[in-house]
Amino acid sequence: MLKLYNTLTRTKQIFKPITKGKATIYSCGLTVYNYGHIGNYLTFIHSDILRRYLEFSGYKVTKIVNITDVDDKTIKQSIKENKSLKEFTKKYEEAFLQDEKTLNIEPATKYPKATEHIKEMVNLIQSLLKKEIAYKKQDGIYFNIKKFKDYGKLSKLKLENLKKNIRINNDEYDKENANDFALWKFHTKEDQNVFWETELGKGRPGWHIECSAMSCKYLGQPFDIHTGGIDLIFPHHENEIAQSQAANNKPLANYWMHSEWLTVNGKKMSKSLGNYYTIRDILELNHPPLALRYLFLTSHYRNQLNFTLKNLQNSQNSLERLKNIISEIKQDDKTNKDYLTQFKKTMDDDLNTPQALQILWKLLRDPKAQGKLNTIKEMDKVFALDLLKKESLKIPKEIQELAEERQNARLNKDWEKADKLRDKIKKLGFQISDTDEGFKIEKL
Ligand SMILES: [Zn+2]
Repeated sequence: MLKLYNTLTRTKQIFKPITKGKATIYSCGLTVYNYGHIGNYLTFIHSDILRRYLEFSGYKVTKIVNITDVDDKTIKQSIKENKSLKEFTKKYEEAFLQDEKTLNIEPATKYPKATEHIKEMVNLIQSLLKKEIAYKKQDGIYFNIKKFKDYGKLSKLKLENLKKNIRINNDEYDKENANDFALWKFHTKEDQNVFWETELGKGRPGWHIECSAMSCKYLGQPFDIHTGGIDLIFPHHENEIAQSQAANNKPLANYWMHSEWLTVNGKKMSKSLGNYYTIRDILELNHPPLALRYLFLTSHYRNQLNFTLKNLQNSQNSLERLKNIISEIKQDDKTNKDYLTQFKKTMDDDLNTPQALQILWKLLRDPKAQGKLNTIKEMDKVFALDLLKKESLKIPKEIQELAEERQNARLNKDWEKADKLRDKIKKLGFQISDTDEGFKIEKL
């Protein structure tokens, strides 16, 4: 049985789903104004591990990941590029789905977009207005945090302390309390043609409301597990709880799972420090994406992970070694129950992936263990490192050309030349063999 650390209670709790045999997960997705960075995908891989492990444990999982395609950043950037909001965000939305695929993240059941759920958000805001938990000001509609007594229950922040730290934005001078947050923003010149004409007035939603509206639509309230990065605890998740619970008098989610920070070279990732990486940057540096996934799994999701290119290279080496060892194992029809039990026990303990990887290594090094391949196959349902997949080998152009030259020599019955070329290819580390379909090149 899975024991999961719950940010709400600050304890590990046995996961008890709302509906037997089923699990519902909501994960805050990406704001599509740019390519996601490796810190985003660290969190996405953590929620993927959660989902895969629940499936491995027999649950039928519904996972919702939202796409934030309207906010200050998307609007500003689309105007700068002289594109419609839709056209602008589409590019990054597609890139997001592509990057998830590259990293073997199982696709969510649905990826709802904020702009396609304005009606649901308006309804939610209207019920908050009716209950007088929300109020209308000149520039927008706000949530009054004083009307929600549980405010701060997730982040354990005290309201008195919050006020001291808050910077009041000029455009939000009108709020009743410094920490009240916008549910709806009335249209301004800066937003140009991005607005919706609704019962609330002409404008656009605040950021937090989309997650409350969409999680309720697709998962109901409460649902089982809400995931996200630790940076979202306050204010985003706190505000999601406030909106949903105040509107419907029910908790939003029973478990909250948060991923720790990722640092790069020991520092917070930032473009100005030059330590900012997207998934595309990693690929451009010729690292296989699953080396990054391996690296992410070597650290527990509640520990900070320090990313360096050296760590990535080490992970790549480990993964390659792992796959090489596995490719030598002979298939038998057994499954190793002992190792599989150890694996489950470790994963049940708050998804301890670093230790689960250790168990995999231990299995490989155990000369007496049987049923290795089937057991690895089972574990890889969770790791998703393609451990049993044979790579299509990249043949250097030079080798390819030599092999073709040899083929021509053979066709001309110049056996001497063909043999010489075969030796030359061998010296360069490749073996050539002839089959009915033509020649085959393998790395020695
Ligand atoms: Zn969210």
